[in-house]
Amino acid sequence: MAELRFFFGTMGSGKSTQALQIRHNLAARGLNVILTTQLDRQVGKVSSRLGVEAEAEIVDSKLNLFELARTTFEASGLDAMVCDEAQFYEPSQIEQLAQVVDELHVDVYAFGLLTSFQGELFPGTARLLELADERNQVQVEARCWCGSRATHNARLVNGIQVYSGALKVVGDTADEEKEETVEVTYELMCRKHWHAGLRRRQGEQLELLDQQAGPAEVIDLPLNTPTS
Ligand SMILES: [Zn+2]
Repeated sequence: MAELRFFFGTMGSGKSTQALQIRHNLAARGLNVILTTQLDRQVGKVSSRLGVEAEAEIVDSKLNLFELARTTFEASGLDAMVCDEAQFYEPSQIEQLAQVVDELHVDVYAFGLLTSFQGELFPGTARLLELADERNQVQVEARCWCGSRATHNARLVNGIQVYSGALKVVGDTADEEKEETVEVTYELMCRKHWHAGLRRRQGEQLELLDQQAGPAEVIDLPLNTPTS
């Protein structure tokens, strides 16, 4: 009986390594496997921090995963799909993965993050949790700097934790207008320290608003005052 299995964990919890391991084990048994991934793996492969990598299909938002599976199924047979970075897939693409299981009777192993840097479920992840036959937490334990279990992914822009911005930003982003490089990094945190960063950031933004209100009045004054 084919199943849709979802494996979730934080960044650095070894999801890609496990995805590659499953693909390797199936391929070693002579089974035909499609490996897919998204965004930060633009080069068309899945690689793990341990140095293992494999060729992969890039999933853009328009790719129909059921059609991809069906075409391969009819041409050369298909035994399984291993889908990395599945949090970035469209909810409709997650439904296509369920269709692969139900109509082609092909096993699907999906790997992804649970929550974004904003601390909320990714849309693709939410759909996976709703549709999966099996949900597994990837067991490699990651730790916050304080030593507690890391459950949240914090996004840092130039070293400062942020809570707004595009859901998908990976690596350095060049801001051409300002001609400066914005360094985007991620850090694993426990819930407590992720929230502490959020409160600190909200405080700074309020301070910034106060500072902006001051000079703006000074600049506005001469414009409203007759000068001649
Ligand atoms: Zn902590």
